[in-house]
Amino acid sequence: MRQQVIEQARNEDRTLLTEIEAKELLKQAGIDVVDTRLATSKEEAISISQELGFPVVLKIASADVVHKSDAGGVKLDVKTAKQVGKAYDDIMKAIKKEYPQAKIQGVSVQKMARPGVEVIIGMSKDAQFGPVLMFGLGGILVEILKDVSFRIVPLVKRDAREMIREIKGYPLLEGYRGSEPADVENLEELLLKISDFVEKNPDIKELDLNPIFAYKDGAVAVDARAVLENTP
Ligand code: ADP
Ligand code: MG
Repeated sequence: MRQQVIEQARNEDRTLLTEIEAKELLKQAGIDVVDTRLATSKEEAISISQELGFPVVLKIASADVVHKSDAGGVKLDVKTAKQVGKAYDDIMKAIKKEYPQAKIQGVSVQKMARPGVEVIIGMSKDAQFGPVLMFGLGGILVEILKDVSFRIVPLVKRDAREMIREIKGYPLLEGYRGSEPADVENLEELLLKISDFVEKNPDIKELDLNPIFAYKDGAVAVDARAVLENTP
C-alpha cells in the first residue's frame, strides 16, 4: 500500500503527493489523520458526505495546488447535501480560474474535526544534518512569529519533551484562559512516531502536518503534504 502511493506518484512523474496520499501514508504509520476520501464527481462527494456524516469539509485534490485555501480550494463546515453540491461547484470554479493548467484528481471529502489547539509538525532535510523535525503552534504564531523548535531525526524521548516545551507559545498547550489543555504526552509520542516514519521513508524529502488539532485526549492531523526526493 505504501509502495502503491509512492509508485503512483512516480509513474505520473510528480514529487508532490496530494493530501489524500500523504494522509494515507501517515495513517499506515499509525498516525491519526482525519478520514479523507476522494470524490471524482459531485454525486460521489454527496454520497461520501452522507456516509461520513455532516458537517464535512471539501478540498481540491490536485498535486498542482499546494496552498489549497489560498486558491479558494477549501470549504469548511458544509452541513447538507445541497451545500456539498454548491461547495463542489465553487471549488472547481475557483481552481479553474486560479490554476487553469492544474490537473485535478477530484475533491477530498472529510469530516469537520472539532476545534482544538492547532499545532504543526514538519520535516525538511538539512544539507549537514539530514532530516530535521520542526514543531510549532499553527496559524500566525508560526507564520509571523516563527515560534518553532527543531531537532535532528531520529528523536529520542527527551528531544520530543524539550521541543514542545521550548516554544514560547507552550502555555497555550497547557490551557489558556479556560481553553482546553492539550494532551502533551500524546504530542510527544506523535513526534516520535513521525521521526520513526521519516527514518523508514528516506525517499520523502519534505513533510508537513499542518495543522494538527491537539485535544485533551489525543490529536488528529487535518491536513498533510509530502514531497518525494527527485530520484527514487
Ligand atoms: P491549506 O493548508 O492547503 O490551505 P488546509 O487543509 O490546511 O489547506 O485547510 C485550511 C484550514 O482549514 C486549516 O488550517 C484548518 O484550520 C481548517 N481545516 C482543514 N481541514 C479541516 C477539517 N477536516 N476539520 C476542521 N477544520 C479543518
Ligand atoms: Mg494546511
